[in-house]
Amino acid sequence: MTKTIISEGLPVDEQLLIRKQTIQNGTGNKRICIVTGTHGDELEGQYVCFELIRRLNENIEALDGTVDVYPALNPLGVDSVTRGIPTFDLDMNRIFPGDPRGHLIEHTAWQIIQDLKGADMVIDIHASNIFLREMPQARINVQMGKKLIPYAQMLNIDFIWVHDAATVLESTLAHSLNVLKTPTIVIEMGIGMRITLDYGNRLVDGILNLMKNMKMLKGFKPAEMSKPRLSTTGEVVFLNAESSGIIIPTVSHSVNVRKGDLLCRIVDPFEGVVLQDVLSPVDGLLFTLRTYPVVYEGSLIARIFSEKSDQ
Ligand SMILES: [Zn+2]
Repeated sequence: MTKTIISEGLPVDEQLLIRKQTIQNGTGNKRICIVTGTHGDELEGQYVCFELIRRLNENIEALDGTVDVYPALNPLGVDSVTRGIPTFDLDMNRIFPGDPRGHLIEHTAWQIIQDLKGADMVIDIHASNIFLREMPQARINVQMGKKLIPYAQMLNIDFIWVHDAATVLESTLAHSLNVLKTPTIVIEMGIGMRITLDYGNRLVDGILNLMKNMKMLKGFKPAEMSKPRLSTTGEVVFLNAESSGIIIPTVSHSVNVRKGDLLCRIVDPFEGVVLQDVLSPVDGLLFTLRTYPVVYEGSLIARIFSEKSDQ
């Protein structure tokens, strides 16, 4: 059943509509919400919404509870493949929890929170940007770690990155919901403006596995799950470009690298020379890799998770 949760008039004729698809069966009162499209250029979640709804409808008798799917929290952004909210020049993930008496967008954010509040779990799917490819991972605030890590471990992802409290942006959807005691896990995976089928299928399997563990699916046998590594057992190393130039990739993404491995080259196509060989400074899991070929000095190229050897 499709439900319009927000309907606001735009200046001339058009309307801002935010809709959700509700799939409900059985007598269970648990509710899981899948949200995406806060950043309009992140489209990986569109496939997850499609495939999850398709598979639930195919096996509707197994469902015991309610699944709310929100493919586009920023529909103007998704429809125009724009990261922020077009015409307002705003990052939508910086205005939560919103304000019921605020302007159109603040009011919209507030209404979204009201609709999600009280769910047993919210999965907020992001897809990096057009510059960096991310392995399927969860991002969790350290204050919420104890509560959320066990659920994130069920999601068939590769990595759980627990952030310091100081780096948490208080105006994000996830933080606002977690403060309201609605458990919310942020997923980052893939790359902006693209769909990575393998990642999408893995996350759908993971969401179904999580639902099974939440007792929202009966008689359902989950696929084999990947066991994510946890950032608290090591450190995340950032690599930045030392020169501006064109990146030539030399390793594939999502691999374990050894200290000294060549990750990519920054070259000068005008002179035909290599400006920088980007070498891995550690042994670890290459979970973020720049795919956008143009790079400026200081740009992020890669992130590697290096596990402590005593783990
Ligand atoms: Zn995002």
